[in-house]
Amino acid sequence: MNYISTRNKSIKVSSAQAIVSGLAKDGGLFVPEVFPKLSEKDFEELIAMSYPERVAKVLSMYLEDYTYEELLDYTQKAYSRFYGEDPCPLVNVDEDLYVLELWHGPTCAFKDMALTMLPHLLSAARKKTGEDSRTLILVATSGDTGKAALEGFKDVDGTDIIVFYPSQGVSDMQKLQMMTQQGKNVYVCAIDGNFDDAQSAVKTIFNDSEIQAKLLANGYKLSSANSINWGRLAPQIAYYVSSYCDLISSGKIKLGDKVNFCVPSGNFGNILAGYYASLMGVGVNKLICASNVNNVLTDFFNTGTYDIHREFHKTMSPSMDILISSNLERLLFEFSGRNDKLIKERMDALKKDGKYSISNDELQRLNKIFSVGFATEKDTKEVIDNCLEAYDYLMDTHTAVAMSVYDDYYEATNDETPSVIVSTANAYKFPCDVYEAVSGERVDDAQKATKKLESFTGEEVPEPLADLDKREIRFTNVIDKKDIAEEVLKYTQKN
Ligand SMILES: *Cc1c(COP(=O)(O)O)cnc(C)c1O
Repeated sequence: MNYISTRNKSIKVSSAQAIVSGLAKDGGLFVPEVFPKLSEKDFEELIAMSYPERVAKVLSMYLEDYTYEELLDYTQKAYSRFYGEDPCPLVNVDEDLYVLELWHGPTCAFKDMALTMLPHLLSAARKKTGEDSRTLILVATSGDTGKAALEGFKDVDGTDIIVFYPSQGVSDMQKLQMMTQQGKNVYVCAIDGNFDDAQSAVKTIFNDSEIQAKLLANGYKLSSANSINWGRLAPQIAYYVSSYCDLISSGKIKLGDKVNFCVPSGNFGNILAGYYASLMGVGVNKLICASNVNNVLTDFFNTGTYDIHREFHKTMSPSMDILISSNLERLLFEFSGRNDKLIKERMDALKKDGKYSISNDELQRLNKIFSVGFATEKDTKEVIDNCLEAYDYLMDTHTAVAMSVYDDYYEATNDETPSVIVSTANAYKFPCDVYEAVSGERVDDAQKATKKLESFTGEEVPEPLADLDKREIRFTNVIDKKDIAEEVLKYTQKN
């Protein structure tokens, strides 16, 4: 199966090439030529499988350059790094209400589901496409992605990773997670400035052929772990398939029955994977797209116009503070009848005017499967508190946004379909806000808030976050953004 660009269907590459390049040459995103379908027999096999086997089976239907055995080797390596017995448990909190916990990975957030797999897929794809230089991953991060990428690429053969973060733009917990990063092939460096400074400094390296020639002379080729890479999206389809299998094997539903998924959304990658799972044969009634007050997606699904001219809010669910949801392009490609010219026009309009509109017909079809809503900061806090009271379940701020939007959906529709709230982070990743929500007391120090939250709820701090303050600090460098290229070259000379 080949991959085509959303902006020009005649650009066609293999799965390995799609993963190596990340983005198509014309700026479009790679999508599979056709979506594979799961037969009844496939579902029967999947139900009997472990999580790594399920992911390998789903991936093998998309990534024809890899054998099932090869993929199984990677999924076993990736998901053995998760703590607890099940990499993504489906927790029954109320009668027909479930929480799918996607945060049992090394950084306690859902990015781990894909970022523990991507390094294996990428490093193998390089070999398959005839590349023998080392892969150098450069990341500018506002927090979660950088740490998840570091953990994913740590000690993976043939790769190195350098992460730049804004010295004034990440939380104390996130900073500590990165400064204590272990691994032989990792480097972390702060940049004097904010996230945009770090991001634009990294972008200049990707656009500078002179630096890239020097890197190549040192044996390195650049790559990105960006969230639009197909190698990050594909592993996410698997947990929708897997949770559907879990519902069947628990006897809650029969094969073919429909369920709702409510997903806290930012860049639209997570919920898009749910849509792709529905195309494969997972029974989906509604995909509920939940936003915080940065509700550009809510407005889009209500009006058919995507418009980024709006105020940007910093919220307690920072991973959803986003104005441009890149992966929406892939969804619109499907709903426009795979009209690449139209998608290109819309994306050009977004770049030029900051907005575009879709047709009424497309909007109506979208709203048959998608439902939307957003939660305010007050809603988010209330839901964290209410869920602890009602279900004895502690959730993080992002999951709470989804739960709040689901509550509104249920109130408006009385839809009794079994529903899955997709949970994207452990509560202890955002201890200050979560503790305030349940206790009413504000503590600004993350370590102190963690201790207080633990004694207040009796909920254990997950392994990867538990001993952070005792780990060796390895990376304390802070540089000026103009020195970033030199810093990268210095790293590649040393190694
Ligand atoms: C990245 C992230 C999201 C948003 O996911 P998208 O795929 O970008 O929509 C939600 N919650 C958490 C905790 C995240 O890290």
